[in-house]
Amino acid sequence: MNAMQTLQQYIDESKRIVFFGGAGVSTESGIKDFRGVDGLYHLKYKYNPETILSRSFFLGHTDEFFEFYQDKIVQPTLNAAPNIAHKTLAKLEDMGKLTAVITQNIDGLHQMAGSRNVLELHGSIHRNYCMNCGEKYSLDAVSNADGIPRCHCGGIIRPDVVLYEEPLDDVVITKTVQAINNADLLIVGGTSLTVYPAAGFLDFYNGSKLVVINLDNTSYDSKAALTISGKIGEVLGHIQL
Ligand code: NAD
Ligand code: ZN
Repeated sequence: MNAMQTLQQYIDESKRIVFFGGAGVSTESGIKDFRGVDGLYHLKYKYNPETILSRSFFLGHTDEFFEFYQDKIVQPTLNAAPNIAHKTLAKLEDMGKLTAVITQNIDGLHQMAGSRNVLELHGSIHRNYCMNCGEKYSLDAVSNADGIPRCHCGGIIRPDVVLYEEPLDDVVITKTVQAINNADLLIVGGTSLTVYPAAGFLDFYNGSKLVVINLDNTSYDSKAALTISGKIGEVLGHIQL
């Protein structure tokens, strides 16, 4: 059996599939990842993305943070639509075969594709709040702002995304661990698995069917029952549902 046939068989026989993904899931929607060949790491920018997207940088250089965030994160996402990977996962959930999509992405494309149980480990650009009065704002408040987005109270509107140096949400962590722990098939894709603690949650998988679909090698390849080197949209697009 070739790798695609094995993946098809795994999906056919599973009832509690969990998908765990990252930025590579959205590259086929036109949003750059960090570490892929075309990723933001390879940009000639004064600071690397992880420095800019850190709490200390946000607090110390708020204007430069928003300049990068607008240009490299918000604007590309405004023009993006879900690809076949997002859509296939939404369909699997509709069929009652997939229990959760766990994502490190902040772009909201899984929900746009119709997925309902999406655990956003790193938050979402679609939720924003005033750091002073707590008022909630949609993405428009940030995408339409010229410079630092401000609340009517004068406070800074920040995205509800987990910056480097900030902790993940406890409720999301608990649900993530439960979903992975109960999964019969765990499909990991489009992630370098280098960002912690997110990548460490994979260790809660007890099953024997860990599948890694990624363009580059990852540190979990050796633990996987199946590794497929390819584009996640192309691979999931070949699955018969
Ligand atoms: P990463 O950039 O570290 O790694 C992406 C991985 O996906 C690479 O190994 C690359 O080879 C692979 N890849 C790229 N395109 C692919 C495709 N079409 N099919 C299969 N594999 C593909 O991303 P990460 O592991 O998610 O970590 C980066 C962090 O940056 C995350 O915390 C995430 O929150 C954030 N981020 C989010 C977005 C987004 O929301 N779309 C975009 C960039 C970064
Ligand atoms: Zn306010």
